Amino acid sequence: MLTNDQLDHWDRENFFHPSTHLAQHARGETPTRIVTGGSGVYIEDRDGNRLLDAFAGLYCVNAGYGRTEISDAIAEQAREMAYYHAYVGHGTEASITLSKMILDRAPAGMSKVYFGLGGSDANETNIKLVWYYNNILGRPEKKKIISRWRGYHGSGLMTGSLTGLASFHNKFDLPLSPILHTEAPYYLRRKDKAMSEADFVAHCANELEALIQREGPDTIAAFIGEPVLGTGGIVPPPAGYWQAIQQVLDRHDILLIVDEVVTGFGRLGTMMGSDHYGMRPDIITIAKGLTSAYAPLSGSIIGDRVWEVLMRGTDENGPIGHGWTYSAHPICAAAGVANLKLIDTLGLVNNAGETGAYLNARMAEALGDHPNVAEIRGEGMLCAVELVKDRDTTTFFDADEKVAPRIVAEMVKLGVIARAMPQGDIIGFAPPLCLTREEADIVVDKTAQATRAILG
Ligand code: PLP
Repeated sequence: MLTNDQLDHWDRENFFHPSTHLAQHARGETPTRIVTGGSGVYIEDRDGNRLLDAFAGLYCVNAGYGRTEISDAIAEQAREMAYYHAYVGHGTEASITLSKMILDRAPAGMSKVYFGLGGSDANETNIKLVWYYNNILGRPEKKKIISRWRGYHGSGLMTGSLTGLASFHNKFDLPLSPILHTEAPYYLRRKDKAMSEADFVAHCANELEALIQREGPDTIAAFIGEPVLGTGGIVPPPAGYWQAIQQVLDRHDILLIVDEVVTGFGRLGTMMGSDHYGMRPDIITIAKGLTSAYAPLSGSIIGDRVWEVLMRGTDENGPIGHGWTYSAHPICAAAGVANLKLIDTLGLVNNAGETGAYLNARMAEALGDHPNVAEIRGEGMLCAVELVKDRDTTTFFDADEKVAPRIVAEMVKLGVIARAMPQGDIIGFAPPLCLTREEADIVVDKTAQATRAILG
């Protein structure tokens, strides 16, 4: 077996890591973590550390680590039929079964599922389909897509443009022009502190309406949003937000793409986030929790009204010119089937709601009074602690102080992985949905201990 040092050397010599400070890493200034195994909510590394992963990888290992039900299904599919494409009507038992299982779990009014590999490519598919839809309807001008500042929808050219975070745009010449951004439903960071939550919801809806009017309603094709802002800070919307947004979209015949890459398949304590907030999606993006990341798989669930037009489009123009080699990959589909069964068998959707509420309540008890904690917020098995320099005036720390990254680094020393969210001093938690109360207690205790170690 290779020693850690050899692997470390090869890593720095050869491996271009995503979302990493490339220069520091190449110079050896930041650590590598070489992960070797995992079980339940814990991962292990080559240095013998056992860490409670309170972010489920990248909020994706929803069923937890080491699930042989899923890995056995993958192995069996690989032996039987590792690959065949899904073009021109081809499928496997796994991909056909999975599409049925997904539609059974989707909100009313959804018709078909197209499979991709990750959340970014699924959102690329969605944009293309929205454009195709409006071309078939004879509305070639209706093409712009509205996203929110702090939304996260991927890091491709179009999806990186949808993403509303500065570090995903800077120096990449993004966002591209058909993408517009509107205000995030982030009550803590509202400009006018005098606004009530209800005022703020009305303000967000008015901002959207004003943007649509400025651009011209006939130029706006779709609005995309995560039910709960994820990478932008784990921010549940204020009450009534989605209803208010939906009214604006309905008024202007604008499609709603609900990005459920994080919220799909149980994270909010309901099967889908759309159900949780009473949203009426035209297209839903799914990925992560679909296979609990045991294999890369995403999907675009297409609603009835879009599907009808897509069918018309192929009657008029021939087969749809869209597809990936690995769409509906049998191994990934087998992982999806086994994972969705396991989520049901283990009751993970309920557990996300119940243990998630416990985690949030305990976090509020432990840190709610800390002078640098502005807010503890969450929904289901999502939780965030937002830190400020001065809580009375909501003055944020300077980004250079790296307060949240330092706390998160301290937490790792204490055996718990959380995520310093990329914009703001926000400690994010999105544990596997199988988290127990005892494990939630560990997460809370270590977060409190690390916060006090860094901030007093
Ligand atoms: N959409 C949301 C809401 C996400 O959180 C992510 C990834 O975190 C994506 C899309 C992009 O998914 P991927 O990284 O699989 O391309």
